Amino acid sequence: MNITKPVYKHDCEECIFLGNLSYSGRWVPQGVISVDLYYHHGTIPTFIARYGDDGPEYFSGFQIDWVLRDDMRDYPLLEAFKRAVKKEIVTFRLDKGYEYNWIVQFQKEDGYLWAD
Ligand SMILES: [Zn+2]
Repeated sequence: MNITKPVYKHDCEECIFLGNLSYSGRWVPQGVISVDLYYHHGTIPTFIARYGDDGPEYFSGFQIDWVLRDDMRDYPLLEAFKRAVKKEIVTFRLDKGYEYNWIVQFQKEDGYLWAD
């Protein structure tokens, strides 16, 4: 399955669609078979996984330590993060410990909304 359009309704102008993910694990309600992944461009960059059309049917956030945690390996927001890094939408600079600064790169061309 390779869906390049969002499956669910999502009304946020600050979001960039990162593709669909086949997913029916412990992070979504029973019956869900896929999520739409987004990068949300705000004061603090964040990631979104939507699993339904209704406003609250999503979860969001990001913590850098997820990357290192076995128990977060199947977390859809971690996949969203990886895709955003791969597409070079975001990268970050590590400071001490788990401190980090986002570096967001956006260009309006190519369907991406790039800024900062
Ligand atoms: Zn958004």
